[in-house]
Amino acid sequence: MTSCSTDSCNERRVVSVTIMPQKYLAEQIAGNRFDINCVVPPNSNPEAFDPTPMQFVEIDRSEAYLCVGGMLGFEVTWMERIARNNPDMKIYDTSRGIDMLTSTHCHEHNKGEMHECNVLDPHTWSSPRNVRIMAYNICRALTELDNEYADYYKENCDRLVQRIDSVEAVVSSLLEPCRGTAFAIYHPSLSYLARDYGLSQLCIEDMGKENSVLALRNRVDEAQNSGVKVVFIQQEFNPRQVETFARELDAEVITINPLNYDWAAEIINIAHAIAR
Ligand SMILES: [Zn+2]
Repeated sequence: MTSCSTDSCNERRVVSVTIMPQKYLAEQIAGNRFDINCVVPPNSNPEAFDPTPMQFVEIDRSEAYLCVGGMLGFEVTWMERIARNNPDMKIYDTSRGIDMLTSTHCHEHNKGEMHECNVLDPHTWSSPRNVRIMAYNICRALTELDNEYADYYKENCDRLVQRIDSVEAVVSSLLEPCRGTAFAIYHPSLSYLARDYGLSQLCIEDMGKENSVLALRNRVDEAQNSGVKVVFIQQEFNPRQVETFARELDAEVITINPLNYDWAAEIINIAHAIAR
């Protein structure tokens, strides 16, 4: 029996990320050098996700963790413990250097206790401009972990940034003419896109929860006054109130998935929906 060395087994190095859009970005840059483990699976809500024991095993196998940053519910609740359990794991903030928004986002912090609204909005990946910064941050992290392949990561990153540039051009051509208009959304996950294109984002949920009937009525009035024609719902949230809201407004409900692995396709879909 020959024992199996790491090399002959071809066991690859692992880096963990929190959400699928980060997995997309990290995979483009990592190429065949790292496996990218995404902790929050598709169709789960990263504001309120608890990892399974198996997922902790995967996280523990990682030599680095690329967190979203800002204050995403999952990371607020779990990052400290993940760091404590894995003292050798390097932790990078993929939102480093992004001009962060406050007071656009609040979330349920573990079982019903609400955060103040002036926390850093974690949904940085809704804006192509931010995604470019995230790509550079991921490239820097992988280069630090695996310096021998610095040129490889730079090449991959340059190719990804070209792709981001072309996505940004499409999104800009769709959204520049929409400056000053408003859209509604259940959970406020498009704050950065709204900021970058001068749109106003009306959030339907109330501090991460459903509204009272009266509060919903007020939100409908507000949306009516702002000329909202499109109402977005994210598939990981319960759409009950959104249906009522949209019916009152006579607006169209469009399901989006800002946590889509295919970041580029999703952001272009969203821009099309706002622009039509
Ligand atoms: Zn959120």
